[in-house]
Amino acid sequence: MPQIHAARRALAQQRIAESGADGALITIPANVRYLSGLVSSNMAMLLPAEGPALLGTDFRYAETAERDCPDLEIEIERQLEPALASLAAGRGWRTLAFEAHQMTVEQHSVLAALPDSPRLVPLGHVIEELRAVKDETEIELLARACALTDEAFAVLLGAVQPGRTERELAIMIERTMVDLGAESAAFDTIVASGPNGAIPHHSPGDRVLQRGDLVTIDCGARHSGYHADMTRTVALGPPAPWQRDIYELVAAAQLAGIAAAVPGADVGAVDATARAMIAAAGHGDHFGHGLGHGVGLEVHEAPMLGPGRTGRLEDRVPVTVEPGIYLPGKGGVRIEDTLVVRAAGPEMLITTTKELLVL
Ligand code: ZN
Ligand code: ZN
Repeated sequence: MPQIHAARRALAQQRIAESGADGALITIPANVRYLSGLVSSNMAMLLPAEGPALLGTDFRYAETAERDCPDLEIEIERQLEPALASLAAGRGWRTLAFEAHQMTVEQHSVLAALPDSPRLVPLGHVIEELRAVKDETEIELLARACALTDEAFAVLLGAVQPGRTERELAIMIERTMVDLGAESAAFDTIVASGPNGAIPHHSPGDRVLQRGDLVTIDCGARHSGYHADMTRTVALGPPAPWQRDIYELVAAAQLAGIAAAVPGADVGAVDATARAMIAAAGHGDHFGHGLGHGVGLEVHEAPMLGPGRTGRLEDRVPVTVEPGIYLPGKGGVRIEDTLVVRAAGPEMLITTTKELLVL
């Protein structure tokens, strides 16, 4: 799909030109992949404000780069940042924008010491901002990742029973996603049972599931580089009143958050909509993370939905909405969907039921 990548580069080049830089050195792997289509553990791009881009990678990826990026000039080097910055200097660039939020101080000092080094100026999150709004091809890939997640979760449900450990279930769902066709899990699966449910990012361990537990499972499949993200909390045996109460509150806050996630909505206001409902029920202190995040080539990417975050949602922006309530020592509930913000209303990519499942 070289045309898609060329179109993305054209948009990025407009932004670089507006910034006044002669060009940009793109070093964040997901950004280079987005602009080139190459999948590599070592790559960078020299993107001029105008004219053809140059893709750098090393010997291990040379053949792949020739095959997948036929419209790009390719430079094979091991140390890409100084090599590409030298090329920029050789082309007479006076200003080189770079991804200051990723480059190390050490790498920067190497570039600054190059002969005739261009002036180095931060590019900002320009490429991440472009990545936030997906094209329909990307949305299809993300939808497939979410469908694989739904399918794997349905298979897993039969195994969520007293006697299993958290770790067994985490491995089982990751294995099922891959068996169904995912390239991998999108991130380390969370299975948090009983009191561990109070820890939002609990690492699944040897705790044995028991009747009376709430079990929170946060998982996702990766498909063609795109990351699904979903969380469901289920009950083992009939839930206690406090368990049902917090479940219903989180479920209602999640629906309110989804309804607020429309094109033009302020990301802080979307968070506040769900948060206000949880706070009004006296659980404000028990919801200590943001409401959601963008998903795409990274599992957490722009836009972030949270208190103090700024920016507005747009059409075709996939996000998660994932409120939770965490009661130390007792347990917790989180419900998370991946959806696409659309002018016509949210497109729910995760479709697993949000009724409280009693297993
Ligand atoms: Zn998640
Ligand atoms: Zn998430």
